[in-house]
Amino acid sequence: MAELRDSPFIWVSWLTKIMTGETTCQWQGWFKSKNKLTEEQPNDFNLVGWTIDHTKLLTELQRELIKAGYNPVVEQPIKHKILDTDMVVSGKIDCIVEKEDEVVVYDCKTGKERSSDQAQVMIYIYFLSKNEVYKKPIKGIVMYKDKKVEISNLPENFEENFNFFVEVLSSTDSPPKNAGESCRFCSITKTDCPERID
Ligand code: SF4
Repeated sequence: MAELRDSPFIWVSWLTKIMTGETTCQWQGWFKSKNKLTEEQPNDFNLVGWTIDHTKLLTELQRELIKAGYNPVVEQPIKHKILDTDMVVSGKIDCIVEKEDEVVVYDCKTGKERSSDQAQVMIYIYFLSKNEVYKKPIKGIVMYKDKKVEISNLPENFEENFNFFVEVLSSTDSPPKNAGESCRFCSITKTDCPERID
């Protein structure tokens, strides 16, 4: 049985999948923001294989940037406190480089291209834009094995949409469950979600 967290917490990747509709069960993000899972549903995802691929892509990026004369900072944890609440949204930026005239945020993706990949980088750009440390324009790049997607500007209503979905996950009222396809990729077991469909 999951345990209540001392303080609520949202991991960026839960949020991006919900924001982009890749996960249609918003309840899973809402539940995990308030509870720490003590057991997780096993799945057939090859985590070790994914981790090695990701580390390789990030290492190649890091080498390329150093060769170009930059000083990349990798695996940088980032936290963003939601104003007037005790909610914290956390993530880990794969790579940040401060150049003469801009700051570039990189995120390496080894799987197929998804909308949530770009949403994740947009969230990092948004967090860094609120940080006094960076006074230069900030852009993002999603690095795939065979292509790059550049994000120079956030959508006009990004902040409003970000706050909307944070509110969905932090509200005292639970969003509805949507058992079905989303259960396949959900780590919540039947103990915590009896509606789970396997
Ligand atoms: S198991 Fe299914 S219904 Fe339950 S939280 Fe996960 S996705 Fe939603």
